[in-house]
Amino acid sequence: MGGIRVADLTPFTLLDYPNTPSCIIWIAGCNLRCAYCYNKELVFGRNGLDFDEVLRFLKSRKGLLEGVVISGGEPTLHKEIFHILKAVKELGFLVKLDTNGTRFKVVEEAVRSSLVAYIALDFKAPREKFEAVAKKELFLPFSKTLRFLIKSGVDFEVRTTYHSSLLNKEDIQSMVEYLEGLGYGGNYYIQNFLSGCETIGEVPNRSEKADITEIKREKLTLLCRN
Ligand code: SF4
Repeated sequence: MGGIRVADLTPFTLLDYPNTPSCIIWIAGCNLRCAYCYNKELVFGRNGLDFDEVLRFLKSRKGLLEGVVISGGEPTLHKEIFHILKAVKELGFLVKLDTNGTRFKVVEEAVRSSLVAYIALDFKAPREKFEAVAKKELFLPFSKTLRFLIKSGVDFEVRTTYHSSLLNKEDIQSMVEYLEGLGYGGNYYIQNFLSGCETIGEVPNRSEKADITEIKREKLTLLCRN
């Protein structure tokens, strides 16, 4: 694995991978510039941590950790992403991939090769607001990834970060309807923006919490985080 670098490692979390004690491998670089993003170091930073060191750490945690979360940034941009996924899986860990879904080919290959056990897919905004929120017009590749994941049968969740200056109740309703229209019946998390954080875009650093009480849904489970 010589020469492969990642950005950072969080040795333990119970929150990021449902029901799975995990660590998080962070990968720098992102192809979006979401206005509410507060991961400046990951979006603009570099991968400076030797992956061999991470593998040594993982070997020492066998039997203690069950899962490894690969997050970013947008981890599918890493040119060695398949080596990273494979190496972690070969150590016996369940692999969760966090992705914005705009790199369809990489997600498709990772799922088809059974390199990931669980995926968290960001749904940035309804189509008409996607560019305003993510600063790139990449709704179509996101949508292709979403459709593929629904058909694939892989275990995954969908999540939206909610900032009240960018999204409103009608947007949440529209995203619920979009997901259900494609046949999605899993968990859909609305993650409230953490007020007070410094962001990479120009949004107020305070946000009202999302109100999901009146959102109509039939198949999926709508949940709020924070
Ligand atoms: S919030 Fe947006 S800009 Fe920040 S890391 Fe995630 S996808 Fe990239």
